[in-house]
Amino acid sequence: MDTSPAPLRGRAIFANPGPTNIPDGILRAIDRPTIDFHDANFLPVYREVFAGLKHVIGTKQHLFMYTGSGHAAWEATLTNLLSPGETILVLESGYFSEEWGKMAAAHGVEVQTVAADWRHGVDIAAVRAALEADRGHVIKAVCVVHNETATGLMIPPADVRAAIDAAKHPALFLVDTISSLASLEFRMDDWGIDAVVGGSQKGLMNPTGMSFTGVSEKGMDAHRKARLGRYYFDWSVMLTRKPHDSFVGTVPVNAFYGLREAVRMLEEEGMDRVVARHHRLAEGVRRAVAVWSGNNGPQLYCTNPARVSDSVTTILMPEGHDADALRRTVRGRFNVSMGGGLGKLGGKVFRIGVMGDVNETMLLGVLGAVEMSLGINQVPHGKGGVEAAMAYFAG
Ligand code: PLP
Repeated sequence: MDTSPAPLRGRAIFANPGPTNIPDGILRAIDRPTIDFHDANFLPVYREVFAGLKHVIGTKQHLFMYTGSGHAAWEATLTNLLSPGETILVLESGYFSEEWGKMAAAHGVEVQTVAADWRHGVDIAAVRAALEADRGHVIKAVCVVHNETATGLMIPPADVRAAIDAAKHPALFLVDTISSLASLEFRMDDWGIDAVVGGSQKGLMNPTGMSFTGVSEKGMDAHRKARLGRYYFDWSVMLTRKPHDSFVGTVPVNAFYGLREAVRMLEEEGMDRVVARHHRLAEGVRRAVAVWSGNNGPQLYCTNPARVSDSVTTILMPEGHDADALRRTVRGRFNVSMGGGLGKLGGKVFRIGVMGDVNETMLLGVLGAVEMSLGINQVPHGKGGVEAAMAYFAG
């Protein structure tokens, strides 16, 4: 008898916190012959995507797009808004706030940080205090990762806006919405955000490789004075490219077909229902984890209930148990993919994403695979997590 591992059959369940499961409708939308991006038939598609994405991020102001993952939009945002030697204030939330800060430093920007416990989240009073202490208004921008994908922690942008206003500080307000967009409520204009960083591969359910920046009028004024080096990313260069005017270089036509289908699906469901669905799914995961945490089992990494993320749950393994070994069992035995720990959390946590095209039944498969694998890997845990999630979903 063949003793090699049997190939896995059935659909794999993809529960990563990005990239996410790509729905069949989007796969089919992308799977079409390409056309010239100057073709008259493409311009309406391009415009529909811009209008749809503006609606999703909640802005009537500017939007610029790039062929490149979220890092491209991070870099575009920094280089279009800042000059060498200027200072930004980064609110610490985890791996991604650190990385955005490192990128700014690599461009010769001074980075100040409001330090925070990754499990609890930044104290908004400390943000206000840091801005009030900056009497000379040296800080040019406040940078926040709305939903820290590494730690499963959310920072409310409206609270940060209120702190900036209370400190009467003129800094720009930059928000990374890569893992919150189309999952958590997001309102760029209402929350007074000057630049929004987004990507295609999470709540927008598309392949990785497209990203964008929403920009306010105040952001555009700052852009005209900003001197960091850029060209592909330069918003002023983009505006000279007619008729597309928000894109430099070859426009990736097929990616636009996919994004058009995503905004159509989001509009069909309605953003309020999208947000409610993500909350319900993430709460189901939390109910399961609450049970598993008995018997000194895995527990929620985020210890602040007011800040838990509704798009990704980060789960801390008990001391001495390897999260990556658990993920290998979940993937190898049950064909379910989950996220691992990033940076200093490597091997310590695993992450369940509910962002994008996910429903209760898919998620119960994920939770079942985790609970079986906890048993197989002899990780202590309370039993009945899946039942708790089922009771919640049925309730
Ligand atoms: N910011 C956040 C919050 C993220 O989750 C990610 C990626 O997961 C990034 C930035 C970087 O984006 P990308 O990996 O698409 O370059």
